[in-house]
Amino acid sequence: MIPFLDLKKINESFQPSLDAAMLRTINSGWYLLGNEVKGFEKEYAEYIGSRHCVSCANGLDALTLIFRSYIELGRLRPGDEVIVPANTYIATLLAISECGLIPVVVDADPVTLQIDSEKMKAALTPKTKAVAIVHLYGRNAYSEEIARFCKEGNLLLVEDNAQAAGCRYGMHLTGSLGDAAGHSFYPGKNLGALGDGGAVTTDDSELARMVRILAFYGSEKKYVFDYCGRNSRLDEIQAAALRVKLPRLDKDNDRRREIARYYQQNIRNPRVTLPYPEEGKAGSDNVFHLFPILVADRDSFQAALTEKGIQTLIHYPIPPHLQKCYRETLPVRFPLPVTEDIALRELSIPISPVMTDEEVEEVVRVINLTH
Ligand SMILES: *Cc1c(COP(=O)(O)O)cnc(C)c1O
Repeated sequence: MIPFLDLKKINESFQPSLDAAMLRTINSGWYLLGNEVKGFEKEYAEYIGSRHCVSCANGLDALTLIFRSYIELGRLRPGDEVIVPANTYIATLLAISECGLIPVVVDADPVTLQIDSEKMKAALTPKTKAVAIVHLYGRNAYSEEIARFCKEGNLLLVEDNAQAAGCRYGMHLTGSLGDAAGHSFYPGKNLGALGDGGAVTTDDSELARMVRILAFYGSEKKYVFDYCGRNSRLDEIQAAALRVKLPRLDKDNDRRREIARYYQQNIRNPRVTLPYPEEGKAGSDNVFHLFPILVADRDSFQAALTEKGIQTLIHYPIPPHLQKCYRETLPVRFPLPVTEDIALRELSIPISPVMTDEEVEEVVRVINLTH
């Protein structure tokens, strides 16, 4: 069986440094808000190229804390609209609606699978105050066009960078392109902890300060609570693990691109569409958190691959606007045919830095034989 993602093998590949970091942390006697977290925040901010990094408990919290902070700072108000891609993991929307903001979902572009910039422009209303872009599947979603749209409309630009750690846009990394970015260190992400973890990056000192306050019960000064905050923190063990892994992230992403390139060049099956084929080429900045293919009659194709020993996953079978939790509350102002089509046809095939060449070749062989 070729697993979709072999987390054990990934973490073994960081030994013995990972064990040493765990032991160091355990023996330090300090488990929260200590030197590992401080060190990681500094190193991650430097890596991303942002002035500030504030760590927190997970990626959803990171995004939620950004929107909550903008509300506390008076830069957003409950009831304001936030434009967001319909084709995303539901967490992007949950962060928005949790804060009393209105997620306005916009359909995907059929080639990039990301927000369609023309449809985004059509979604603008006087209540629009922010845009959330998602670097979905590890592919950059930022563009000069989106930046201009935000600037002209005086809109905040928030990046969901949960799937794109290490992704480049020109000289900059995603996570440093908008006003603020949410990051996830969920174990399966490109930079994964050994449990949950997340962070906010931003150049905005006021925002960073507010995120830190809200993530610490709403308090900046001991026993003084100016806001009704929450408890959301990255623990020392996770920070220590991430500090071991961060220095190898670029190399791991290179290996992901190498596998993607091989898939792009060798998957030949009339039933399968490969999105953005140009991005398998050298010099591409996509970090291929996932390798999505689009397949007609996807469920039977997935079953055939499973039978032949290839594990795959679907990202995602039901888009947020069709979920029960949003069915009655989400304003769906435009049809979303591309998003709904992606949900029917998307299949993610194995990709990870620890896959062997033989495994990659086997995935291609089986896909090409499955009609
Ligand atoms: C994983 C993910 C999140 C949420 O991150 P968690 O750490 O799991 O809370 C948000 N957005 C996207 C696009 C994700 O893939």
